[in-house]
Amino acid sequence: MKKPMILLLFLIALMVATFLVIGKNGPVSSSEEPPDQETPGVEETVEPSPQEILREAVREDWEKGFLILVNKEQGLAEEYVPADLAEIKYYAKDRSPQWRKMRQEAAEAFHALAEKAQEQEMEIVVTTAYRSYDFQSDLYYGYVSSKGQEWADQYSAKPGTSEHQTGLAADCSSPSVGYQLTSAFGETAEGKWLAENAHEFGFIIRYPEGKEEVTGYNYEPWHIRYVGTVSAEQIYTKGITLEEWLDELALEIGEE
Ligand SMILES: [Zn+2]
Repeated sequence: MKKPMILLLFLIALMVATFLVIGKNGPVSSSEEPPDQETPGVEETVEPSPQEILREAVREDWEKGFLILVNKEQGLAEEYVPADLAEIKYYAKDRSPQWRKMRQEAAEAFHALAEKAQEQEMEIVVTTAYRSYDFQSDLYYGYVSSKGQEWADQYSAKPGTSEHQTGLAADCSSPSVGYQLTSAFGETAEGKWLAENAHEFGFIIRYPEGKEEVTGYNYEPWHIRYVGTVSAEQIYTKGITLEEWLDELALEIGEE
């Protein structure tokens, strides 16, 4: 009776002691960085890699809202109005002055783009840029009643799902197609120049040919979207869409 009891107590004492030793030494040795293991003078001076620089630039544009995704599946609230809308200087004069605005940085980028085109004897202007929720609502339901639901869904956006409401999108045209929004614009010198150079100013052709399944829209050579120069460059060189670029970013910085 006595011996097994002592043995049991001894075993318990041994287990407790073992736990205490592990508890004390285990975390200490694994979590504390021994300071003398670092090479003196080289810590914290590592140059950021090109990927880190790119990621940081994209993050800044993301924080400014330049990478906002608006498509047929993801919309904006009825009351969403960009706070920093600015007047665009180069526009088709027969369109409503009300919709010649973009967010400040996008408007300035468009001016730089249009001026660069002018240097090469090309006139690229905005027909409409920012559009309110209510305007899109009138436009969409106007198409539904005049051309039918199917046509409206193919060529127009339901209110709240138009990128124009972000203040980052613009429809462009030129005198060579009578300032119309037509796929023929893509074949003009201006349309071709726009497709090849818009990214340098932070814009992308938002609905490219062959990407209808991804964007949900037919090819629109006239519709440009501001995303910032870093993302525009990536989207242009990779030949992808905003949707696909955002997928790539989510894979890279998704867990943050
Ligand atoms: Zn458009």
